[in-house]
Amino acid sequence: MSVKDEIFRYIDSHKEEMIERRRHLHENPELSFHEDETAQYLAEFYQDKAVSLETGIGERGLKVTIDSGRPGKTVALRADFDALPIEEATGLPFASKNKGVMHACGHDGHTAYLMTLAEAFLSIKDQLKGKIVLIHQPAEEMPPGGALQMIKDGVLDGVDNVFGAHVMTSMKLGTVAYHHGETQNSRARFKVTVRGKGGHGSSPHEANDAIVIACQLVIALQNIVSRRLSPFENGVVTIGSFDGKGSFNVIKETVTIEGDVRAMSEETASTIEKNVKEICAGIASAYHCEIDCDYVRDYPVLYNDPEMTDLVIDAIQKADIPEVTDLIDCGPQAPSEDFSYFAKERPSCFFYIGATREGETAYPHHHPKFDIDEDCLVVAAKAMGAVALHYLEID
Ligand code: MN
Repeated sequence: MSVKDEIFRYIDSHKEEMIERRRHLHENPELSFHEDETAQYLAEFYQDKAVSLETGIGERGLKVTIDSGRPGKTVALRADFDALPIEEATGLPFASKNKGVMHACGHDGHTAYLMTLAEAFLSIKDQLKGKIVLIHQPAEEMPPGGALQMIKDGVLDGVDNVFGAHVMTSMKLGTVAYHHGETQNSRARFKVTVRGKGGHGSSPHEANDAIVIACQLVIALQNIVSRRLSPFENGVVTIGSFDGKGSFNVIKETVTIEGDVRAMSEETASTIEKNVKEICAGIASAYHCEIDCDYVRDYPVLYNDPEMTDLVIDAIQKADIPEVTDLIDCGPQAPSEDFSYFAKERPSCFFYIGATREGETAYPHHHPKFDIDEDCLVVAAKAMGAVALHYLEID
């Protein structure tokens, strides 16, 4: 039996256990930068295994190294483990026990499949080459994100390349999807404070109306994407908050606006930042008011290295995984993802695992009714297992 078949057989015969782990994590979700119990659960899981375990990497992250003792490259596989501030409404028997906190992005599934895959690798450790590093990462959902601090703490020391996968309810079960090059948007957010001069509603000439100025600002900011970006560039500027609450006969002195920016290249991200700041300065000058713009760029563009992406495609094709029905290029994805920091440090590939059975209703990620079909965990474990074996040149 080939090593690959042994790994697949291990995953098949431990499917129920993998699902139990996912349900345990699902029931006990923790917010980004607060995942103490999850980190502890993982540390206990690896504690007595034939691995080298480093905890506290990036505060709550774990670096788990399976060293075959034989020459070869070092491949890292990353799974995130944080949840979201969402009140779960799935009604599942294993729904969240932590009020207002929910695994609504599938990170419970990522963690569970990687734990079982780790055991599968250990079951054939004598047939491995090189090293496999398992990166269990906290705080993906909340900038500045957990990846950055794990990297600063040396999680990539000795690592040649990194692979990660995300379950996707927008894709059907049995699908493995990839994209070459720029794959997920970079992100920035800004908070703009417009300071005019308050006054009596009857006497605008003696005041400087922050609401009117802020409205001009919102409209002007919408011109960045439509008038300042080339039609071949992708960008988004969303104003998600406009705090102008006051009283009908009072001219408002201060208004705060908050916005979200996404872009598929660093160049576009810089163009948008420059224009947001210039528009703020220009409107402040035109309306004789003060405008402060606090602009923070966080997750960079997720860039999938073409060679590593080809390796994923080859691995999946060659592995002939019975549960994989489609291997597709899904094109770029709008959300941002802090795997991008790993991909900036090492040529990497982040790919996608369909999580909705055909004919079933799919709730989007971050929805209170979000759920995955648990059969996708088998697909994820086998796909990532196949990628690691192919990468390490193990037949
Ligand atoms: Mn996610």
